[in-house]
Amino acid sequence: MTPIIVALRAVRARIDAAARAIGRDPASIHLLAVSKTCSASDVCVAFEAGQRAFGENYANEVAEKAASLAGLGLEWHFIGPLQSNKTRIVAECCDWVHSVDRLKIAERLSMQRDADRLPLQICMQVNVSGEASKSGVPPDEVIPLARVVADLPRMCLRGLMCIPEPSEDQSLLRRRFALLRQLAEQLRAEGLMLDTLSMGMSHDLETAIAEGATIVRVGTAIFGERENAETTRTGELGLQ
Ligand SMILES: *Cc1c(COP(=O)(O)O)cnc(C)c1O
Repeated sequence: MTPIIVALRAVRARIDAAARAIGRDPASIHLLAVSKTCSASDVCVAFEAGQRAFGENYANEVAEKAASLAGLGLEWHFIGPLQSNKTRIVAECCDWVHSVDRLKIAERLSMQRDADRLPLQICMQVNVSGEASKSGVPPDEVIPLARVVADLPRMCLRGLMCIPEPSEDQSLLRRRFALLRQLAEQLRAEGLMLDTLSMGMSHDLETAIAEGATIVRVGTAIFGERENAETTRTGELGLQ
């Protein structure tokens, strides 16, 4: 077996164990394999092991992979910082966007989505780390923005996403994930039909699952360390 298949099985086992540990159905947690900087052939290996949903951070990279792997029925999730000049590419080739953090980006995606296709599935990225992070909607702006985004045509607001500041402290991370869960609960109390919490990565997926994650986004633990970890980290923090 190739290392990717072994690693993918190990990650699925971690998800199952974390779900069972708190009495959740493991089937309620979806694994998004984050394939940024990986080759299309790595994506194919994961596909052959049953993986269907893949996450990408860069518009041009997801466009290329989606085109070269068209026909496999893969689901592409855009999870990186999104500039206005890239929304068209993302609206055309992705099924989901997790990183919507301002109205202008949501409006462009909505306008640029082909009306003949399924609506674009949207998560709003929330800045749960305060000063320690620059990307994401500040928590106190989530509700007003979500009301507007939920009404845009050709898209469907599914939930919230966060990337806490890098930390080894799982109790701090847990507080960040809890904040995201509470915001989603407030939105549901307002009548929005949200079913998604996109949170948890290679080093903290158990903690995120304990706070209700429904999508965990896992790269390193499946595909190995990325070569250009530095650029990737910059992208994650929205500093590029
Ligand atoms: C890279 C990335 C991930 C995956 O991180 P790993 O630590 O490699 O699992 C998840 N979410 C986002 C937004 C990312 O940019």
